[in-house]
Amino acid sequence: MKIIKTIDEVRTEVKSAKQNGKSVGLVPTMGFLHEGHQYLMERAKEENDFVVVSIFVNPTQFGPGEDLESYPKDFDKDKNLCQGAGADIIFAPEVDTIYNQGFNTYVDVEGDITKKLCGKSRPGHFKGVTTVVSKLFNILLPHRAYFGQKDAQQVAVIEKMVRDLNFDVEIIPCPIVREADGLAMSSRNIYLGDMERKAALVLSKSLFEVKDLIEKGERNSKSIIEHILTNINSEPLVQIDYIEVVDKTTLESVVELQGDKLIALAVKIGKARLIDNIQVKV
Ligand code: AMP
Repeated sequence: MKIIKTIDEVRTEVKSAKQNGKSVGLVPTMGFLHEGHQYLMERAKEENDFVVVSIFVNPTQFGPGEDLESYPKDFDKDKNLCQGAGADIIFAPEVDTIYNQGFNTYVDVEGDITKKLCGKSRPGHFKGVTTVVSKLFNILLPHRAYFGQKDAQQVAVIEKMVRDLNFDVEIIPCPIVREADGLAMSSRNIYLGDMERKAALVLSKSLFEVKDLIEKGERNSKSIIEHILTNINSEPLVQIDYIEVVDKTTLESVVELQGDKLIALAVKIGKARLIDNIQVKV
């Protein structure tokens, strides 16, 4: 496995892999990797001959007062995890490699899809995400790119960007990997103290409960949201940002469940902002 910091070098490596007939899978990450990332890499390795993992804490997707400066890092651990998962390259550029001096060109998916849910409390976040993902696609020209459904809105936004701008890459959404007790794995879980970690379980517990209710026939979004709200409000350490039932592709709110829907939520617990969701098909 090679660790590469420059665009020229990573392009040369990927080009040569392609010239040798290899298919290329990309797994974009911000590092501090866990089993959720590992799943993405293993899936990429299964479906491609050559896997590039990017590790880049992208400043343009952080808002003022967010955790850009304190975002957790452990490059040695990341390296081992990537190697174990069969990555061929870690692409870990510096900020000024990706954002050259005077950088002034952005990719922005307009409309509700980026303005609602996380876009509401994190204005500009998705513009940063789509800009850096476009750059990674342009630099690496992968055949496939792997993203976690943990960030379901990110998947919907990137799929839309790929359709709208005709990127020649297949987006592969991957399921949420959870801790044994249900908490969705996240690099930001490290911010949680013991009590907060316990309180955070209310997120997956509420989502699993409404999944059961839906399996038993519940179709009304308002009742689903009420159920989650009551659960979460019983945890004083958890502050709700949003709880929504939306279409999986357009992210438009739905009144009655039918088709592929997403029940998504975001909360603050201490200094951690956590998101979670479940997909339902009825
Ligand atoms: P991040 O490093 O947090 O930007 O995440 C990089 C990629 O890993 C994104 O596509 C995330 O959706 C995905 N990811 C993060 N956590 C999980 C998880 N628990 N399960 C599956 N994918 C995840």
